Amino acid sequence: MSTYGIMTPSARPNGSGGRPLCDLRSDTVTQPDAAMRRAMAEAEVGDDVYGDDPSVNRLEAEMAARLGKAAAIFFPTGTQSNLAAVLAHCGRGDEIIVGDRYHIYCNEGSGASVLGGVSLFSVPTDAEHALSADAVRGAVKADDPHYARSRLLCVENTVGGRTIPLDSMRAATGAARDSGLAVHLDGARFFNATTALNCAPDDLAGVADTISVCLSKGLGAPVGSVLVGDQDTLAGARRNRKLLGGSMRQSGMLAAAGLHALEHNIDGLAQDHARAVALSDALSALHVGEVTCHTNMVFFKPEQTDLAALRAEMAARDVLIGGQSPTIRLVLHRDIDDTGLTHVITAFTEVFEAGASGVGRLQRA
Ligand SMILES: *Cc1c(COP(=O)(O)O)cnc(C)c1O
Repeated sequence: MSTYGIMTPSARPNGSGGRPLCDLRSDTVTQPDAAMRRAMAEAEVGDDVYGDDPSVNRLEAEMAARLGKAAAIFFPTGTQSNLAAVLAHCGRGDEIIVGDRYHIYCNEGSGASVLGGVSLFSVPTDAEHALSADAVRGAVKADDPHYARSRLLCVENTVGGRTIPLDSMRAATGAARDSGLAVHLDGARFFNATTALNCAPDDLAGVADTISVCLSKGLGAPVGSVLVGDQDTLAGARRNRKLLGGSMRQSGMLAAAGLHALEHNIDGLAQDHARAVALSDALSALHVGEVTCHTNMVFFKPEQTDLAALRAEMAARDVLIGGQSPTIRLVLHRDIDDTGLTHVITAFTEVFEAGASGVGRLQRA
């Protein structure tokens, strides 16, 4: 029990036999640690719909300052933050231009089109998951009643763990601006990108008018995203947050987790990236499939693709892996420390090399 009389359980759920569970399915599974829970318990709160929550106000001011923008808004989720931003930039009959593998296009239920009459025009991304300036220029429509009005370019960084270099981002977003479009950056893993690019947050944020940043992934907060941008666009986004049902009351307890994450958890992202490299190297050394690694993510395509059996064998060793066929995504995060990493590598090695019971078909050919 802490001084606040609340339970402060260990950060990680237990696997069998008291071993920690190593959950590699995503960095969204991170649990608030004891210090974060304490910050949440101690948070000063007020009614944020009245603008009265000091913790929310502090988080918004802090994120805006770090990214070099005038304003910020705390949202329950990244999906809602992206949606509120797109709807602030665009009206009915407008279109966004967006990479064909980006989250806004693939994974958000086409919310801007469902709720805002905004059309989503997808553009093929290159092998690095980036949008080229030429592709953007080719997608912008002439001012002609036959066409939707091209209004907004939506970019993303990181994309599937890959960082898009700043000059590439600047080329694509510059092409959009030359055509009169605004730019939104889905920076769900914004600080993974700045960590890997070794750039200042405002360098990356500078390519866009609005940026959405998730607190609930590698940064380890339980909930929340922050949208940053200019005053006018964010006034529209604040209105949209209300109508989307995302305006919360004493949300300072959640914002306090985000503030704690900004202060304490950004530096650790470099360690997640280093552990991803170590896991990638260990898997490569087993010679049982293709392995690539980008920031905190390892992508593993086993030669023999009985993924269900592999998943079950790993789960029996308290390691949870995703099942996206044919490539498994393994995500490193702050709840996998060096002990956890060693355990994960041992588990993979056992399953593939040591002839673990029932996995003969997974062994190296
Ligand atoms: C996770 C994520 C989001 C938002 O996700 P929520 O689960 O709604 O918070 C948006 N874009 C990308 C690229 C993401 O990875």
